[in-house]
Amino acid sequence: MSMFSDMPVDVGVIYEGERIRKPDMYVEFGGLDVPAKFELARARSMDEIEDGNVRTVGPDLKELSEGGSYPLGILIEVAGKQIEPDLEGVIERRIHAYCNYVEGLMHLNQRYDIWIRLNKKSFRKGLNSLEILGKILVRLFKSELPIIEKIQVTFITDPPTVEKMLSEARQIYDARDSRARGLKDEEVDSFYGCILCQSFAPTHVCVITPQRYANCGAISWFDGRASARIDPKGPVFRIERGEILDKLRGEFSGVNEAAKEKTLGEVTRVCLYSAFGFPHTSCGCFEATAFYIPEVEGFGIVDRGFVGMTVNGLPFSTMADSTAGGRQIDGFHGLSIEYMRSPKFLQADGGWERIAWIPAKLKERVKDFIPKELVDSIATENDVKNIDELKAFLQGKGHPLVDRWVKAPAEAVAEVTTELPASEVAQLTGLPVTSIGAGGFKIILKDAKITARKLIIRAAEKKG
Ligand code: SF4
Ligand SMILES: [Zn+2]
Repeated sequence: MSMFSDMPVDVGVIYEGERIRKPDMYVEFGGLDVPAKFELARARSMDEIEDGNVRTVGPDLKELSEGGSYPLGILIEVAGKQIEPDLEGVIERRIHAYCNYVEGLMHLNQRYDIWIRLNKKSFRKGLNSLEILGKILVRLFKSELPIIEKIQVTFITDPPTVEKMLSEARQIYDARDSRARGLKDEEVDSFYGCILCQSFAPTHVCVITPQRYANCGAISWFDGRASARIDPKGPVFRIERGEILDKLRGEFSGVNEAAKEKTLGEVTRVCLYSAFGFPHTSCGCFEATAFYIPEVEGFGIVDRGFVGMTVNGLPFSTMADSTAGGRQIDGFHGLSIEYMRSPKFLQADGGWERIAWIPAKLKERVKDFIPKELVDSIATENDVKNIDELKAFLQGKGHPLVDRWVKAPAEAVAEVTTELPASEVAQLTGLPVTSIGAGGFKIILKDAKITARKLIIRAAEKKG
């Protein structure tokens, strides 16, 4: 991109997906070890913005010591005739994409979860000031989103200021999220899709509905609507909802068509409210992931911020690897925190009644949306450390999952059909082929849970 020839580092889509490992990093901002971090976009009026201005509140890159992890806030303020507050979420999400265009810079996650690494090579090449990054962002935002007429960028590295602004930012995120609550998927005729993450996960498309927030937790249905309107050729597009094919599972004809088109036929069906069958795909930026725990026939949910081991002995990162990549994997389901507040949350799988374990902090965040009678029966890391303890806990609390364990055989839908050709049956039974019939034997096991060490098939004796 010649637009950046005056910059010390290269800028372009080819750098997206670049990973920076700890030994190669010069500094990092945010991430797991740094609680205070955020990025925020705000719509302002024209006279509130000094176009192109980049400010840093606190120490700049070259004043930070090599190898360190620091707090950071990024505030992007925009103005323009067509700029409205509904666009804030989508503009904010572009920070992720644009930072990743910068050679030697890695940006992960969103909102209060950001994690940015700068590598040593790019620092030495001259990317030693946030001012430079700010200039790059200003140019990218203006060239890619022409509705932005004025833009200013503020980086905050001063720790107390980051903390103060983070709590304000949280209120803004909350207000955005709560806006779509109350609106029902059946009541709207448009959903929105986002393919911003296809550079990392080529077969991933987020389907954003009023009751299913984008996986990254950064784009609501309102944000999607505003974005598709002002930037119809951009990564966020309108999906004609179409026919309701399955209300419980959340399957819509328009969603299936859009998924098929945007994944070039890779994904043909999506059931929005289930982690089984045709689950919504996940790129890598989901805020949390639901994972099936077969031993209790329920789910655990772990969010990105949880640093310990989950109840199945695996950390978030391992579970995230199993979930990511734009695949449809039964029992692994990337989701946003806001979706956990939705009445449609894993509706087809039993919703909250199916949840066995979540981290204590996350539980606190969504507590008001968990059915009252279930709150105490969902375990956290403070209650149990492994599956055996979890089982005992759920039993002790009378969690609805326990009923499932007893009823499971009757509820199981598995049907095992074995058809053996006559010749094999003849071998197994020692009967002449002619007395068996062309179809052989058919063994159907319905609603069964059977453990057998040996299967013996004998010809029935003829009753006289
Ligand atoms: S996670 Fe989904 S909604 Fe969020 S940026 Fe990626 S594709 Fe778009
Ligand atoms: Zn993503």
